[in-house]
Amino acid sequence: MTVDGKRLRIAMQKSGRLSQDSQALLTSCGLKINLREQRLIAHVENMEIDLLRVRDDDIPGLVMDGVCDLGIVGENVLEELSLQRQIDNEPYNYQVLTRLDFGGCRLSIAVPQEENYQSVKDLEGRTIATTYPRLLNRYLKQNGVNARVVTLKGSVEVAPRAGLASAICDLVSTGATLEANGLKEVEVIYRSKAVLIQRRDLAESNKLNMINKLMPRIAGVMQANE
Ligand code: ATP
Ligand code: ZN
Repeated sequence: MTVDGKRLRIAMQKSGRLSQDSQALLTSCGLKINLREQRLIAHVENMEIDLLRVRDDDIPGLVMDGVCDLGIVGENVLEELSLQRQIDNEPYNYQVLTRLDFGGCRLSIAVPQEENYQSVKDLEGRTIATTYPRLLNRYLKQNGVNARVVTLKGSVEVAPRAGLASAICDLVSTGATLEANGLKEVEVIYRSKAVLIQRRDLAESNKLNMINKLMPRIAGVMQANE
């Protein structure tokens, strides 16, 4: 396979919270996908489409760098990389084709359950662990709070118990994980869903035609799910 091939390349999460729903969406749109093998690339049998199955963190960059044409990813991951690239003065072009109806979660600040938390000012001077340092820093700045942000790629919820931080900023859906770790949600800083994104500079007419065919199908599938 060549980078400039004719086949439309869609990046999706290989395994995780978005992979089942991403795959189900594409299947509902008529793509015949053979995912029996645990391979990086899956060829769609009945259309000129390849699926790239990667870690969700890699998806926005693959689209922004034009390596993949489309991507399905959480807005949280997309926005974090956009902020990072803006700060680093790197290109971060992409286009959101549609918001999807899965992957809903919120990025929230949590503190120990026993704490008498009153307002965002209570975060002043503290250390907060997160996987989303730029989203968190933006929120802290907007609220005039000075806090130290520690970046952890995983196990954020155990950071307070491990003595690494006195608060965390992590993804929440039900709150069960927070509770199991003796934490309570005190501020929602970002609400996220999965989105379908396209690279900005896409010009090949065959690929644009395929996308034009796919979009009404995606809308139809979401309408049927309502
Ligand atoms: P990968 O191995 O691909 O890096 P991951 O462990 O980083 O996977 P997942 O936990 O599978 O990521 O979450 C993928 C995305 O699912 C999140 O970035 C977010 O957009 C969405 N999501 C929905 N609900 C939740 C939740 N409760 N916790 C975490 N992520 C959630
Ligand atoms: Zn990830």
